[in-house]
Amino acid sequence: MIARFGRKHAGARVSGAGAASPGIWPEIRTALAGFLKEAMDVLLPEEEGCVLCGRVGLGGMEEVFYAPICRGCLGRIPFVQPPYCRVCGRPMRGAVAEGGLRGGPVCKDCASGGRFFKVARAVGVYDGALKDFIYALKFRGRRELAEGIGVLMARVATRDKAIRGFQLIAPVPLHPKRLVERGYNQAELLARMVGSCLGVPVRPVLARSIHTGEQNKLGGRDRHENLRGAFTVPRPLEAAGKSILLVDDVITTGATANECARAILRAGAAEVRVLAAAVAPLEREWLHRA
Ligand SMILES: [Zn+2]
Ligand SMILES: [Zn+2]
Repeated sequence: MIARFGRKHAGARVSGAGAASPGIWPEIRTALAGFLKEAMDVLLPEEEGCVLCGRVGLGGMEEVFYAPICRGCLGRIPFVQPPYCRVCGRPMRGAVAEGGLRGGPVCKDCASGGRFFKVARAVGVYDGALKDFIYALKFRGRRELAEGIGVLMARVATRDKAIRGFQLIAPVPLHPKRLVERGYNQAELLARMVGSCLGVPVRPVLARSIHTGEQNKLGGRDRHENLRGAFTVPRPLEAAGKSILLVDDVITTGATANECARAILRAGAAEVRVLAAAVAPLEREWLHRA
């Protein structure tokens, strides 16, 4: 069953005034007007704007899990296209992608082992319009953008065989300090959207320890060190034996996703797949599109 968020309006309510009340006519009129408005909405639905840019009808719309997204936005999102690493989903270009093993190429990081997640996939490269939308969702309070980004993530989960087959969705938890500052966890908003599109439950499987510092100021090796023991699974029974889809906004080095996957597996889960809105490409493997 596919559901949409925030599209249903509550029906007009009439207060319980007595029949003899002299103020009844305005109330009936209001109720009637409400009824007519609802009837008109059904007969002549107002054209909905693009869930990403808000514009209406420019160059046509595509519906992704009932969410209208304009062709302009779809054309500006740098979707991940083959060749990409079959483990971490990172796009690969040119010489690096050649000589791939059967089933697709594997990037250097994944080839050297140490990945706890089975596969990771993302909608697009953390660049261009997608970067702008994610930035606005995270840092400008534009929570509503989780709908458009989330439906595109759900589409990846249905189209890519490698990511299918999960029973529970777990968002990557935000650092508690960040959660207080921001008021919401963007990964959780995205996870809820994906869960709603696909009919899969979303649970706060992971908790984050308060002791980790700023992740994005650190380099690759330090990121791994900094994350050791950062995530816990407070209710291991919930994860035990299950195939879990971990949801995050951006996969940068993959260190966070990996550490989360490690904690979930340690709690007894069968396997962990990762779905993100965007993946940051390795500079040397990605030539910026003109
Ligand atoms: Zn748009
Ligand atoms: Zn890889």
